[in-house]
Amino acid sequence: MAPSPADPARPSAAPTATPTAPSVPSADRAAAEVDRVVIENVAIATVDAHDTEYASGHLVIAGDRIESLGAGRAPADLANVVRRVDGTGHLATPGLVNTHHHFYQWITRGLATDHNLFDWLVALYPTWARIDERMTYAAARGSLAMMARGGVTTAMDHHYVFPKGSGDLSGSIIRAAAETGVRFTLARGSMDRSEKDGGLPPDFAVETLEGALAATEETVKKHHDPSFDAMTQVAVAPCSPFSVSTELLRQGAELARRLGVRLHTHGSETVEEEKFCHELFGMGPTDYFESTGWLGEDVWMAHSVHMNDADIAAFARTRTGVAHCPSSNARLAAGIARVPDMLAAGVPVGLGVDGTASNESGELHTELRNALLINRLGPHREAALDARQALRLGTYGGAQVLGRAREIGSLEAGKLADLVLWKMDTLAHASIADPVVALVLGAAAPVTLSLVGGRPVVENSRLLNVDEDAIARATRDEAQRLARIAARG
Ligand SMILES: [Zn+2]
Repeated sequence: MAPSPADPARPSAAPTATPTAPSVPSADRAAAEVDRVVIENVAIATVDAHDTEYASGHLVIAGDRIESLGAGRAPADLANVVRRVDGTGHLATPGLVNTHHHFYQWITRGLATDHNLFDWLVALYPTWARIDERMTYAAARGSLAMMARGGVTTAMDHHYVFPKGSGDLSGSIIRAAAETGVRFTLARGSMDRSEKDGGLPPDFAVETLEGALAATEETVKKHHDPSFDAMTQVAVAPCSPFSVSTELLRQGAELARRLGVRLHTHGSETVEEEKFCHELFGMGPTDYFESTGWLGEDVWMAHSVHMNDADIAAFARTRTGVAHCPSSNARLAAGIARVPDMLAAGVPVGLGVDGTASNESGELHTELRNALLINRLGPHREAALDARQALRLGTYGGAQVLGRAREIGSLEAGKLADLVLWKMDTLAHASIADPVVALVLGAAAPVTLSLVGGRPVVENSRLLNVDEDAIARATRDEAQRLARIAARG
């Protein structure tokens, strides 16, 4: 358990804090006139280092932080309590953290449904290359709304399609996240290896090396907030080995390290990608990434399905993170990532929805279940993952790979108050005694309350900051407009 910020002898929030990292508020801030929210009579899965759980406990939130939590009722003498929540019948967990997504795909769902990755990409690139700012904004709102209503409190978008003259796509995505009220990482993607250079995307769908690097740097400088309570962060994120030049990977890594931000890309997703890397670069994806500066504790990779023992050891040695996307990997017949082996080796692993053109549900809470089920189809069988490990992947593991484990990902005093109250007393879950098992293995649980930095985002399964029905209409209209434009060629 991290020390309480109210303890003047222990001003730092987390035992892992480094001298250069932003510190949590001093004792004065928490003790003084900050408004408090008290949640009581609630089962709590903290997902802290010891997997501490309380069958019936309380949480005290002061401003945007968790002030205290524990078994039984909250202290009776708390000042400035502006809200009391009776959590009877609920499970409180850290908010879910999504680590890989492509928001724009919300308006190209349900297409190319029986393809592997490369065929699916080739089928969809010509449509994707027609997106504009209005479409991107609507799709981002749809993606964010779907995740937030299902308990996501930190979202990310790996956006890598920037057609010429399409407007301020990055700005529109960041605006959509701010409006929804969730914490957000924009991974500014890019592609510069088109068909003429042996890549997969058509020539008209890519940027130049110089253009991509300059636009990425501008996005970081304009939007990245390094502070403890940041709502928006930016990562450098060239798309994949088969759509990006070696030089863009190399210079992208240098750029990220110069600017002090994280690096993200796709890697080791399919056997076709592995073959591509061997043919073009004379080595497998992990060796290729290492040769371009793309292994390190500031890197997280989407998928990492086709990893041999040496690849996993290299990720563990360098603390390179992985965004595990079980539904998308199944939809595109990519394979089963070796998550139990990665965890045993010490690789940080989070969960990802992936783009909704390869995971139409767009929900992260179902990925907890799918991560457990799909990994049990692998060689470790019933020992592959348990329910608590699955919950950890979707919360603390996600915070780790986004570089935010000091601030979010577990319920501990001093951390940001990003949490979810799941309703577990209805037909779907009431007969399951263990609430964590019910959450992970049962049907998707309704969200009674979700908080991001102490601010409510969902109440009684409804989004508070945006109009879900209006978003549904806008995304339908933009999907139809994109389909019409794409059909004209
Ligand atoms: Zn992806």
